[in-house]
Amino acid sequence: MSPPTLHSALLIDGQLVAGQGMAEAILNPATGELLCDVAEASPEQLESAVQAAHRAFPSWSRSTPAQRASVLLAIADSIEALAEPLAALESLNCGKPLYLARQDDIPASADVFRFFAGAVRCQQGQLAGEYLPGHTSMVRRDPIGVVASITPWNYPLMMAAWKIAPALAAGNCLVFKPSEHTPLSILALAPALRDILPAGVLNILCGGGESVGSTLVSHPRVRLVSLTGDIVTGQKILQAASRTVKRTHLELGGKAPVIVCDDADLDAVVQGIRTHGYYNAGQDCTAACRIYAQAGIHDRLVAALGDAVASIRFARRKDADNEIGPLISARQRDRVASFVERALGQPHIERVTGAAVHSGPGFYYQPTLLAGCRQSDEIVQREVFGPVVTVTRFDEPAQALDWANDSEYGLASSVWTRDLDKAFQLAGRLQYGCTWINTHFMLTSEMPHGGLKRSGYGKDLSSDSLHDYSVARHIMVRHGQQLD
Ligand code: NAD
Repeated sequence: MSPPTLHSALLIDGQLVAGQGMAEAILNPATGELLCDVAEASPEQLESAVQAAHRAFPSWSRSTPAQRASVLLAIADSIEALAEPLAALESLNCGKPLYLARQDDIPASADVFRFFAGAVRCQQGQLAGEYLPGHTSMVRRDPIGVVASITPWNYPLMMAAWKIAPALAAGNCLVFKPSEHTPLSILALAPALRDILPAGVLNILCGGGESVGSTLVSHPRVRLVSLTGDIVTGQKILQAASRTVKRTHLELGGKAPVIVCDDADLDAVVQGIRTHGYYNAGQDCTAACRIYAQAGIHDRLVAALGDAVASIRFARRKDADNEIGPLISARQRDRVASFVERALGQPHIERVTGAAVHSGPGFYYQPTLLAGCRQSDEIVQREVFGPVVTVTRFDEPAQALDWANDSEYGLASSVWTRDLDKAFQLAGRLQYGCTWINTHFMLTSEMPHGGLKRSGYGKDLSSDSLHDYSVARHIMVRHGQQLD
């Protein structure tokens, strides 16, 4: 297969233009090699993009749901038509195996656009009626205006789809900024987006968080900022947004607890954690990374999981042989390594497998399992965002529930047991945006995804997301002369 074309043009007011700001080096994390430079947007280009979105808003916001749906369907079709180059770019820019980008990222991204094309045409709400005598009230949901959407590097195209599709469906215009590390897939889609969308409705700007990101967030014409990223970034955005009282929609990481009860199906748990704790090299905010194992299953689980994790294939010469890729950058790999180093400095923590930087090119870290971890340990409390899973032993489910909830994070969780009574009781009490029972990590466009506590608020996916990108407005009419 010939290498995909690397696009570097930004999309501003319906035009593909070279960035006029500083150049950002885009690397292949599987080799550490330079792929290309992408110049970020200059302050003038940022201003043009926001103004273009502002100008496009009156017309786009008055288009019908059917008109917007047909645009979203065309975007989904383009993603499918460009599936091969998009998958290749996702694989090059993130280091993930190509077959996974093909089978997971691309279809999931197209599906999000198709879902919102349908969802926007069948929204439901409160009935119109006479809530005051002589007056009829009704509720409209209207778009908010210019939305700034900012995404991380772990699933670049999918995160773009999660942000762009509901915002456009709801009738907003956008300025979208991908992670400075991973702009290539959305830039490759930009020519198709330019052809499908009216000028200014969607603008794509590349650039760093502290330069382009923070300027965008502070822009007075931006009415809503939607971020998927780190808690610290969310805090900065909240501070900046407060100055102009902007709405915010924040998806800010996780540290998913996985409660494994004595009666769980051991093989299913091992297979589930091997897959869902390490997928995408653990660079996933829902990764099954914080295991609480009941005393009766604990030792068998640690032994079987240790063997399973040691068998995860990575950094092999043939891409199709790999199950996971590298970390996104040397910095992220070193951050993961320092978490593990500090953890292993604690005498009670045992290395079951992994725990080292992979020697050889690329930013790989060995899939790692640590046992004997305690609730108060940093490695149990903080998000590592790498291929590192911890195991903590518990005696009673109530204790596991307390520990699971004793976290700054509140995004995703899972419970593994054959006893459905227990499963539902635990699921009902877990303070997480999502709880899976006897599985983990499975997302679907129809269901809401988003956190509690410092994992943020606001939902991606599902019709809940359409609510987040629109505002309820009350229209009341006073009746004239009464009929009787
Ligand atoms: P990050 O917060 O460093 O960057 C995310 C985006 O924010 C990037 O585009 C970056 O340029 C931008 N940014 C950074 N500083 C900014 C600022 N001051 N103003 C405006 N924009 C700014 O996160 P990351 O390292 O790219 O991604 C990893 C984080 O994302 C992890 O914490 C992970 O858990 C989280 N994440 C969350 C979800 C979720 O759904 N909750 C999904 C994926 C990733």
